[in-house]
Amino acid sequence: MKFISTRGGECVTGAQAIAQGIACDGGLFVPETFPPVSKEELEAMLPMSYAERAAAVLYKYLDDYDLEELKAACEKAYGKFEEGDAAPLVKIDTSLYMLELFHGPTCAFKDLALTLLPYLLRKGCDLSGIKEQILILVATSGDTGKAALEGFKDAEGVKIMVFYPHDGVSKMQKLQMATQEGKNVNVLGVRGNFDECQSAVKRIFTDEDCREDLKKRGYILSSANSINFGRLAPQIAYYFSAYLDLVSSGQIELGDKVNFAVPTGNFGNILAAYYAKRMGLPVGKLICASNKNNILTDFFRTGVYDKRREFYKTMSPSMDILISSNLERLLFEFAERSPVRVSMRMQKLAEEGMYRLYEDELEAMQQEFWADFCDEEQTVETIYDFFEEYQYPMDTHTACAMYAASVYMAENKKDGAPMVVVSTASPYKFPQDVMYAITGNDIKDSFKAIKHLNIATAMKVPASLAGLRDKPVRFTAVADREDLYANVLSFVEKG
Ligand SMILES: *Cc1c(COP(=O)(O)O)cnc(C)c1O
Repeated sequence: MKFISTRGGECVTGAQAIAQGIACDGGLFVPETFPPVSKEELEAMLPMSYAERAAAVLYKYLDDYDLEELKAACEKAYGKFEEGDAAPLVKIDTSLYMLELFHGPTCAFKDLALTLLPYLLRKGCDLSGIKEQILILVATSGDTGKAALEGFKDAEGVKIMVFYPHDGVSKMQKLQMATQEGKNVNVLGVRGNFDECQSAVKRIFTDEDCREDLKKRGYILSSANSINFGRLAPQIAYYFSAYLDLVSSGQIELGDKVNFAVPTGNFGNILAAYYAKRMGLPVGKLICASNKNNILTDFFRTGVYDKRREFYKTMSPSMDILISSNLERLLFEFAERSPVRVSMRMQKLAEEGMYRLYEDELEAMQQEFWADFCDEEQTVETIYDFFEEYQYPMDTHTACAMYAASVYMAENKKDGAPMVVVSTASPYKFPQDVMYAITGNDIKDSFKAIKHLNIATAMKVPASLAGLRDKPVRFTAVADREDLYANVLSFVEKG
């Protein structure tokens, strides 16, 4: 399987696509074709464990890797999840399910990809003949940073530095990063919002002088952000697994369609669902849920992507994004895979802050996607309502998806397909907001909120969050956007 750039020009192997992260022309790597999965193959996957299913899906794209080695890597990565199940499916009501992706080391769905990425990246570099040390720079809106730090801590031949918007992440997210262990890690707060933080990090990636300079010091740059195909590929697997679980538990017949509702920010998670569908998984509608930053809702409704709008800080910070990087991959598919059309739009977005789809592209997209957004009040209400009715506590991001799913189901009664809502974080990651939504109590201290949330819901507290309280804080530095590279250099020079 070969990978091509959304902006044309480049054609590489899976290993190279992952090692490189982003194409030289600034585009994103996409598979040359979608590898089909037949009904017989789906049947054969029914009795498999999650790790085996994941390896089977990954190998469809990464056929330059070794299948047995991939299996072993998946088993190791997903062995780090609570109770040995990386993606359990929970039935909430008739035709309504939760795909819980928060049982990993950092309690967010990013763990599904980032526990595996160290292997995919190291192997990708080895297969591509890259001998240098890898320096990973990550811009995070909260959850990616911690999951990447945890995934790469003390990995051989790798250093990782994470940048987060100083005032743009939750208390718990900040504490998770500030207390990170490992000899090869660094964390820096950046003044500005997530988009500004991400742009500043991107500038280092695209600056030839920085690259040269780092190379002289024995490092090559790589990214653990969701633009890396190595982040996307492991996410495709859980859509297959959720579907197979519905079949093996007798909820559906193999071949029946299933809808997925996904809380969306950078468009990585929901794009993986679309890739699964293109491979042949019987998926109906994909529900793209946003928070008050509803640029994607507007996009799917009107075909206009317009980032010239106010940026809101919400209680679902991992979705506080105006530039969804992975949307470029979707655009490529609906623009008849024309790199010229994609480049034109990306240039227009950079220069004018907006672009517009053709009418037929929009119509084709609306066949596959349905979008809505959930404001702050609706987030609180959704958490409250579902706890009242089902005693099921959900986090603030998941609530956005549940809200959108509910609206879709109410408006499209004829679509009888089961709905799987993708749950992306543990409620304990945002304990104050969830506690407030469920009980009306406004608790300032995160650990007190965890304790009371546990009393109110009887849901088990993840050990990794409860344990944060006693961990020493290692990283408190904050920098201006102009000073990121200087900070990178001093981290690299520390040896
Ligand atoms: C990252 C994240 C999202 C958004 O996922 P994308 O792949 O960026 O669309 C949603 N919820 C949580 C909890 C997240 O950490």
